[in-house]
Amino acid sequence: MKFTQPKLPYAPDALAPVISQTTVEYHYGKHEKTYVDTLNSLIEGTEYADMPLEKIITSSSGKLFNNASQAWNHIFYFFQFAPDGQKEPGGALLAKIEETFGSFDDFRKQFETAGATLFGSGWVWLSADDKGSLIISQGPNASNPMTQGLRPLLVFDVWEHAYYLDWQNRRADYLHRLWDIVDWSVVEMRYGL
Ligand code: MN
Repeated sequence: MKFTQPKLPYAPDALAPVISQTTVEYHYGKHEKTYVDTLNSLIEGTEYADMPLEKIITSSSGKLFNNASQAWNHIFYFFQFAPDGQKEPGGALLAKIEETFGSFDDFRKQFETAGATLFGSGWVWLSADDKGSLIISQGPNASNPMTQGLRPLLVFDVWEHAYYLDWQNRRADYLHRLWDIVDWSVVEMRYGL
């Protein structure tokens, strides 16, 4: 299967000023595209050619894992945002967040801290296990919680290419402002699946 880069469900300037049009043009238009293109060139003519992307991620290593996981992670990242999305979780997800982290505010603080304290490039995740319990985790480089049997719900990209054009070295400010553009209806849908 040849993977394609899904079109963004919003205009390139729609997430500004948290994520500027220039960052979207480089991050989505060049970084994400390169991961997808490289993934396609690596799987061509191999046993991975007709495999779902999730299966490639959980059964590969090295360069193939890095590009498969980075392709998946970026698609997942950009699709959780919307300029006028649902600003807070509700229903079963909110109840679970409050039960696990104390409050929605406490959850956000713990999530931001996990992102701010990750050394180097990587991702901070909210995932669910098979019982629906919630877990915050941080991982370097192309890591993805699916390799630990978890189901990703939300991710913040903490590679410098995700924020440096807009926030320079202020990673904590970037993380804090990302809440303005998270569409919690997307996260609820992921949790409910
Ligand atoms: Mn990135």
